[in-house]
Amino acid sequence: MKTITLIKGDGIGPEITDAVIKIINASGTAIDWDIQTAGADVIETEGSPLPNRVIESVKKNKIALKSPVTTPIGKGFRSVNVQLRKELDLYANLRPCYNLPNVKTRYDKVDIVVVRENTEDLYAGIERQIDNNTAESIKRITRGASERIAKFAFDYALNNNRKEVCVVTKANICKLSDGLFLESARNIASNYPQIKFREILVDNCCMQLVQNPNQFDILLLPNLYGDIVSDLCAGLIGGLGIAQGANIGSDYAVFEPVHGSAPDIAGLDKANPTAMLMSAIEMLNYIGEQDSAKRIKLALFETLNAGIKTADLGGNAKCSEFTDAIIDRLAVLAKN
Ligand code: ATP
Repeated sequence: MKTITLIKGDGIGPEITDAVIKIINASGTAIDWDIQTAGADVIETEGSPLPNRVIESVKKNKIALKSPVTTPIGKGFRSVNVQLRKELDLYANLRPCYNLPNVKTRYDKVDIVVVRENTEDLYAGIERQIDNNTAESIKRITRGASERIAKFAFDYALNNNRKEVCVVTKANICKLSDGLFLESARNIASNYPQIKFREILVDNCCMQLVQNPNQFDILLLPNLYGDIVSDLCAGLIGGLGIAQGANIGSDYAVFEPVHGSAPDIAGLDKANPTAMLMSAIEMLNYIGEQDSAKRIKLALFETLNAGIKTADLGGNAKCSEFTDAIIDRLAVLAKN
């Protein structure tokens, strides 16, 4: 049986985690979950929102499924998400965005994969206060990290039958930093003649995304633009409740929804577990459990098609009711 680290987080984290584990159990896939708590709730007892045991657990098991974790603002703690990505060198943030059945949006047939560099840019945390009225943040871009993420995007394109990689920068303004990211992408693109390569400025990209998202295939972005554009893409397909994600490095992979811990609805049985479930489905594919991944996805899609939806998607099902409906369909699929 495979052991996988399960990071439960806080806010709606525990509810959506429990829902997803129930669904995976019902699919018949046996996983030994190494449960690790993190976030605001463990600071009091362990002195940090990301105790070392969590990192050690992922290092041992190689794969983790993670729900949202809140980092308290202004208490001197580094973001748990940023720290986890850094410590495990999870350099690629992968966010596939496509329409789900019976989830009404302004756009049809969106099928975009956002590949975001995860380790540097303004997220390197290099900031200084010059005086009371002036602060600086350093935008750090290196050739090594830029070529590594570009290679990831092109390899992903090859392995997943994608046609085009579009690199997104502001290289006309940030000539050196974004210029280096762009130059690195161009260098790597020349090794993949079978994949089309396109370049776009981030402001134009945002406008094009809301005018005609169907023109895009894979988007390759530095860290900050990647963060912003991937939320925009989540909006194209129906919002944060359904947007899946993964952080992948050479040695480890952590699968997690795009959304945060949504404290406004925590504990109310209102959260949509779909984003977490879609992330778990990708995790199952990643560990070679394609059959169960396929069945769970089918059960999820049938549930949505039957009009059973949580409030964020305009439905009236509670998180627990939506979960039970998926489990009921899994049982029917198992019999057929
Ligand atoms: P963070 O800074 O951690 O990303 P945030 O407050 O900016 O947190 P979220 O926690 O993702 O963002 O929440 C943004 C909004 O989306 C909230 O109104 C929240 O209730 C809603 N939301 C997020 N995730 C879900 C979900 N799974 N189901 C339903 N609503 C959600």
